[in-house]
Amino acid sequence: MDGKIDIKSLSFEELNKVVQDLGEKSFRAKQIYEWLHVKLAASFDEMSNLSIALREKLKEKCFLTALKPVEILTSKLDGTKKYLFELQDGNIIESVLMRYHHGNSVCISTQVGCRMGCKFCASTLDGLERNLLPSEMLDEIYSIQRDIGERVSNIVLMGSGEPLDNYDNVMNFLDLISDNNGLNISQRNITLSTCGLVPKIYELADRQVQITLAISLHASDDETRKELMPVAKAYKIEEILKACRYYFDKTGRRLTFEYSLVSGVNDTEDEAIRLGELLKGINCHANLIPVNPIKERDFKQSDKLAIEKFKNKLEKYGINVTIRREMGRDINGACGQLRKSYNDKTKKTKEGEA
Ligand code: SAH
Repeated sequence: MDGKIDIKSLSFEELNKVVQDLGEKSFRAKQIYEWLHVKLAASFDEMSNLSIALREKLKEKCFLTALKPVEILTSKLDGTKKYLFELQDGNIIESVLMRYHHGNSVCISTQVGCRMGCKFCASTLDGLERNLLPSEMLDEIYSIQRDIGERVSNIVLMGSGEPLDNYDNVMNFLDLISDNNGLNISQRNITLSTCGLVPKIYELADRQVQITLAISLHASDDETRKELMPVAKAYKIEEILKACRYYFDKTGRRLTFEYSLVSGVNDTEDEAIRLGELLKGINCHANLIPVNPIKERDFKQSDKLAIEKFKNKLEKYGINVTIRREMGRDINGACGQLRKSYNDKTKKTKEGEA
């Protein structure tokens, strides 16, 4: 923004350098880092133990991202909260808080929109607008933690966007959110979901991260996968699985495979058998997601019986299988649908005004 520094995206070392360049001592950098990442300050003026002169100097040199909630929906059934946030450039993103016995889990967006083009997903319908900054991804969690006044303990990168398509920013985000001088959320409590950008999976493995990697497979053969996910034209299932084995060897982390069940497309028992053959021998967990229909496409959810049969067949291969529990059923909408309907609505209003 105007050539200014995005202060919340800086590592402590980078922040320290900026602070020293301003002629300030190192302990000031510690104070500022704490304001940003522990006290979750939303403005420089909240940093009350800094002199007003220093706050002014910071404002001149740096900018501080902040999200404005434009809509918050709360489920009466299970307390799930869906947040629509406005970024400083006016773009809208969506984040979700899920409350479990083991803690608060937040699902964040990593991009504004998405360019992967998966057929059943609402996030990708209008393409990619831009990448989110590390600070903006932190803000999704910081804003929600401030809103509920409770600690967020788990994070899933499963909102709008393809995290590995915004690789560098997502890596900086992971370093900051798991930093023990910040919110210190253990990487073991973070799951990153990808449609399978193979070279990036290798890079991630080589960083020796400790996060859980979730792969959106959604088909047991390349042809069916291509129908659902254009990215399948670039990478074969076999290449993805090879990268997954490498990830496990490097990190020791069990993988998750996501499989959205679409009636008449990928949900037969034969397909479950083929999937079992593919995953056999990989240390993994399979998560079946009954597809969440979006109005722009006519995909249908598989019925309960088909889902049970699919699960049973897969379990015969010794794979741990779960069916994704729908959270916030009463406020539900598929990934990115809330954002899309909000954008469509405001666009119409603007056109009406013009
Ligand atoms: N870009 C990442 C994150 C996407 S969202 C990825 O591809 O993994 C997280 C999961 O929800 C993905 O597995 C995605 O394919 C799936 N998903 C998206 N829209 C869906 C819908 N309408 N119904 C069921 N699953 C959906």
